[in-house]
Amino acid sequence: MIVHSWVVSTVERAVNQDCIFCKIVAGEIPSAKIYDHGGVFAFLDIAPVNKGHALVVPKKHYATLFELPPDIGRELILALKTVGQAVMAATGAEGLNLGMNNFEAAGQLVDHAHFHLIPRHKGDGLTLWTQHAYESVEDMQKLAQAIRSAIG
Ligand code: 5GP
Ligand code: ZN
Repeated sequence: MIVHSWVVSTVERAVNQDCIFCKIVAGEIPSAKIYDHGGVFAFLDIAPVNKGHALVVPKKHYATLFELPPDIGRELILALKTVGQAVMAATGAEGLNLGMNNFEAAGQLVDHAHFHLIPRHKGDGLTLWTQHAYESVEDMQKLAQAIRSAIG
């Protein structure tokens, strides 16, 4: 049985003691740190898609996008821009992919919300996911309606 132990040392700081990224933020596990500002931390991914592949994380533990409180959103976007530009400059990249996996079905391996910044070079051979067609325009519109309804 997995027991998730939580420590809330102050109102401002929630740490999941089982979480590898919480340990990296706390400096308990070494990382190639590149950004540490306000509520946001960034470091190089240990297994990069391309060299310079960075992970940008909120310092507090939230599992997915859906747990992130709105006030961290602005800080995260600003950090993504700052770190993304720096990654491109340092690697000489001509492009940058921003990605986020939410839940196991989408490939999320680490249960601490994080954004991937992947520097891209022309002809680097990486391909994005394959795309498909809807069965019909009606099929597409029906799904759009269902999503609008879910938004409320
Ligand atoms: P996810 O699949 O959850 O979106 O991505 C998790 C990422 O974390 C992976 O790309 C993986 O290489 C990276 N990662 C996992 N453990 C560590 C670690 O201990 N240190 C660093 N720097 N990256 C890690
Ligand atoms: Zn965590």
